Amino acid sequence: MTNTVFPIRPTPIIDVAGDKGFPVSRIFCVGRNYADHAAEMGHEVDREAPFYFTKSAHAVMHAGQDMPYPPRTQDLHHEMELVVALGATATNISQERAMDIVFGYGCGLDMTRRDLQAAAKQKRRPWDTGKDFDNAAIIAPLTPKADAGDIGALEIALAVNGETRQRAKLSDMVWSIPEIIADLSQLYTLHPGDLIMTGTPAGVGPVVRGDVLRGTIGDFAPLETTII
Ligand code: MN
Repeated sequence: MTNTVFPIRPTPIIDVAGDKGFPVSRIFCVGRNYADHAAEMGHEVDREAPFYFTKSAHAVMHAGQDMPYPPRTQDLHHEMELVVALGATATNISQERAMDIVFGYGCGLDMTRRDLQAAAKQKRRPWDTGKDFDNAAIIAPLTPKADAGDIGALEIALAVNGETRQRAKLSDMVWSIPEIIADLSQLYTLHPGDLIMTGTPAGVGPVVRGDVLRGTIGDFAPLETTII
């Protein structure tokens, strides 16, 4: 069947520094992957296993665009995160082989309707409306893994209106990239185009219309957006 009843919605395509675009498939997000952020949210890190939530690929907004303040919230929060982009298929991959399926890295913002997420937590309901909404995954251009070198020592930071709100080292992550990929690959068959948002350090907080956000990780393409 080649005819469709409506035009196929285009897949978001992330720019790759100096190369072709990266079409997005799924977005897996890691919860509580920095101990200081878990603490500020009133939790401890679960050292038994990482946990995940997801965002639709259609939640992607390209860095550099303005983000319209989303509906049904009075508490939109920034969560600055390392994005790991996958470039190969894998199931049950070992930690030792996990980096083989990494295509590259980028800066991402896991934008969160914190009031809706908090209400969902209280009622033991899913987080979807707090996490997976239009423009909730802001992604900057990707840097191929081969050009990134060892990323553990890189600093991740977010400034709002020029004032630093979040700052950490990627090596502060509780679950490493190989650990996350190996674990996810036991839950899902991973595919090229899948993105992993690897969790946020401490310092999350609200943004309002007019705020200018600038996220950086080492010398990866920075992420900039204005809330409108
Ligand atoms: Mn997050």
